[in-house]
Amino acid sequence: MLSSALSQRAGNDSRIGSGVVSARNPTDGMGFSITVLGSDGSYPGPGGACSGYLVQAGGFYTWLEAGPGTLANLQLHVPLDRLDAVVISHCHADHRSDLESLYVALRYFVGKRDFPVYAPEGLQRLMREEHFDGTFDWRVISDGSSAELGPARWTWRRTDHPVETMAARAQLDGRALGYSADTGPAWELSALGEGLSLALVEASLPAAAEGTIQHLTARQAGATAAGAGAERLLLTHIAPPIDRERARQQAEEAFGAPVDVATVGGTWQI
Ligand SMILES: [Zn+2]
Ligand SMILES: [Zn+2]
Repeated sequence: MLSSALSQRAGNDSRIGSGVVSARNPTDGMGFSITVLGSDGSYPGPGGACSGYLVQAGGFYTWLEAGPGTLANLQLHVPLDRLDAVVISHCHADHRSDLESLYVALRYFVGKRDFPVYAPEGLQRLMREEHFDGTFDWRVISDGSSAELGPARWTWRRTDHPVETMAARAQLDGRALGYSADTGPAWELSALGEGLSLALVEASLPAAAEGTIQHLTARQAGATAAGAGAERLLLTHIAPPIDRERARQQAEEAFGAPVDVATVGGTWQI
């Protein structure tokens, strides 16, 4: 049964399960893609980086999550003067600490002002007074809010996490990215709507820790992506001690189709 489900889904899109779908440089300004800048959960492992992704939609560059280590990796793919917006899901340090360095770079070196930062209200409260000098243009996101970021339409839904946290759907033409942000199992990916081409779902916890805190295991990540009817699943926010291949297998069993693990520098077409 599982194998027939696997082949059925694989038949829909032969690219799934092949690791990095495309290593094409996302700065080419074409299509709709996500490049992983960091995928360590909660804290960075040796040489790693926490949550961070470059979403390229028709030449519009959105930095999704500014976890530690991701500003450095971002610049391997797009220069800061070409970056168009930042989206932060919540105020935990593993998702936003590099925003402080972006401020310094834009304010003193790049010379950009009114740079759009989409984030829940709680993030602004954490930032120092100097971050309100007009370098950033703060745009508060909340459950059900939406915005046009270049040609893509973004919508946000609040997840199951100790602080206000926004999952995101980014839609361009008929393709959609669904991002869980951080969440426990009381929230479902299906809240982002149908037709997700690529689901980027957190898998912070080892299997033995399922249900202990407001995060997901790989099994739960696979189950919520299957429940949403997502075409493909990319696991992320994996805590450094977790065996990534084991997590991938656990997610695959629950998803019923091949699953990829987000690797730094990898680009997936959406
Ligand atoms: Zn996190
Ligand atoms: Zn968090």
